[in-house]
Amino acid sequence: MKQSKLLIQTLRETPRDADVVSQQLMMRAGMIQKVAAGIYSYLPLAFRSIRKFEEIVREELAKDGCQELLMPAVLPAELWQESGRWKFYGDELLRFCDRKAKAEMAERRARGEKPDEREFYNFCLGPTHEEVITDIVRKNVRSYKQLPMNLFQIQTKFRDERRPRFGLMRGREFTMKDAYSFHADDACADREYWAMFNAYKRIYSRLGVKFRPVEADSGAIGGSFTHEFHVLAGSGEDAILSCDACDYTSNIEKTEAPVLRAGEHGIAFELKKDHFRTPGVVGQVEQAEGMIDADHPKGMPITQTSKFFLYRVTFADGTTKLVGAVLRGDHEVNPVKVKNFVGAAEMEMMPLEEAEAFTGAKSGFMGPVGLKDVQMLVDGSLEGAVNLTCGANRTDYHHFGLDPVRDLPGCAYADLRMATEGDACTRCGKGHYQAFRGIEVGQVFKLGLKYSKSMGCTFLDEQGKENPMVMGCYGIGITRTVAAAVEQNYDADGIIWPWPIAPYQVHIVCLDPANPEVSGVASQVEQDLEKAGFEVLHDDREGMSPGAKFKDADLLGFPLRLTVGAKGLKDGIVELRDRRTKEVLKLKPEAAAAEVAAARDRIMQELEAAGGR
Ligand code: ATP
Ligand code: MG
Repeated sequence: MKQSKLLIQTLRETPRDADVVSQQLMMRAGMIQKVAAGIYSYLPLAFRSIRKFEEIVREELAKDGCQELLMPAVLPAELWQESGRWKFYGDELLRFCDRKAKAEMAERRARGEKPDEREFYNFCLGPTHEEVITDIVRKNVRSYKQLPMNLFQIQTKFRDERRPRFGLMRGREFTMKDAYSFHADDACADREYWAMFNAYKRIYSRLGVKFRPVEADSGAIGGSFTHEFHVLAGSGEDAILSCDACDYTSNIEKTEAPVLRAGEHGIAFELKKDHFRTPGVVGQVEQAEGMIDADHPKGMPITQTSKFFLYRVTFADGTTKLVGAVLRGDHEVNPVKVKNFVGAAEMEMMPLEEAEAFTGAKSGFMGPVGLKDVQMLVDGSLEGAVNLTCGANRTDYHHFGLDPVRDLPGCAYADLRMATEGDACTRCGKGHYQAFRGIEVGQVFKLGLKYSKSMGCTFLDEQGKENPMVMGCYGIGITRTVAAAVEQNYDADGIIWPWPIAPYQVHIVCLDPANPEVSGVASQVEQDLEKAGFEVLHDDREGMSPGAKFKDADLLGFPLRLTVGAKGLKDGIVELRDRRTKEVLKLKPEAAAAEVAAARDRIMQELEAAGGR
């Protein structure tokens, strides 16, 4: 492919509205173009990478017998009403009405009625396709003999994200591979879950990026479990903790925290109300330092203080409840753990003003003692601890002597704490957690009976009895993965594409395209490489300095650059440069195909060695 004919415009400057590296570099490299917030065109170079990744996904899923199909992007409300999600899915679901519904609305308005427009929404843009696939399977599969079945599509999704940002990483429109499996029983669904887990490991290993499968939160609904796949990158939105001795890796939302004993605080004495006064001091550390009495001239050890959080939770049936969480002063609360422990569907921190009115104290002085109708939870690291301080529910004051068992009747101990780097691993007990940042690029999820029950997706078993199918779902963010690969692989000069999804593998840079001898050699090398099966972009643009061409080549970041210039050809050589290592090899033009093949083998070996780590 000749670069003079390619649809591409590179930019020297970083676009102002691009806030992460992948977005900046892909925009500067002329790969993507913003059409509206969170909506992009994939220009030819980006589209090549996207299609290559799709092919890797297709090939690996085919090995597990998954069948590809394609469902519509525009979905009828009825199906979503059947599953119940029409009501529960928030504003991320873009809903609208077709001409028939519009005519009905106009008619009613003409009659003087003022109906709410939302009543007429009868379609949405699919953010995910559980309903449609379940409808397909219930209409086409009857017998256990047809099961299990795993169906997938690679398709455009739309989610009206609150904050579309980071280019392809969090778009409103994006490409997803979504697969759904159907089973006669739980054990079969579990087998498929692990088959997909392994397929994802193969897919991300082939991609040549550092990644981790990560245990993730699946909400309060018991029985279901899930793993996310994360590409490791400093800019990742998720925090991951990974044991340095065993395989335990989890999203910090989910990471089990080891119990850390608070220490010996002596024999329990009575609760000394309003014992410490620290006027105007709100920070936990500063408060502890200011808790001074005859026995504590230098203040209280922070591990003997407690902190308190007040939440309002909502259950699936719509009922609500107040929940309090008590933790050691130097620990962070993990709200996901609190929410899951009580089995809530939704949870929010009680708004400050409301909490002040409810407890009677300003922030920093609220505490668990004496609050009515609050389910009280205490973090496991405080189990057995006594003589703690806690907010007095009186501004500026703390109680001293809290014994949760005695003073918070009915309280429950649970793991509520955010695990941190350096904590001992709860699984193997030997290693310690290391922290990483990750970009969630895929997820495997055991759905169970949620959709098959609500939508009546059943089969006849061997005895002729009707049962709901057990389901699983498995997503991969195709476009997000391509962006995440860039997020992990770049330097100050531009992108460094992993070979398997590089738009082109070799960039021939012809320094003297107006010189027929030089351009002749460049074209010959292009032909040789293509004949040998390589994908080549030939920079044949005239009237550009070598420096400008090299800058563009570095920015586009194909794995290998082959420079052909009059100067080198005088000595009969061209130069092959590795984008990642910057190593340069001088070679004869006739040797190009062989040397490129050798370089590819070396690069692929390095990728494999790094694979998955
Ligand atoms: P997130 O938590 O990042 O919003 P999600 O967990 O809601 O994502 P899933 O429903 O699990 O996403 O979708 C499967 C995959 O689709 C994700 O793992 C991710 O790679 C991709 N994806 C989800 N939302 C977006 C988006 N707004 N833009 C690009 N890719 C996305
Ligand atoms: Mg997810």
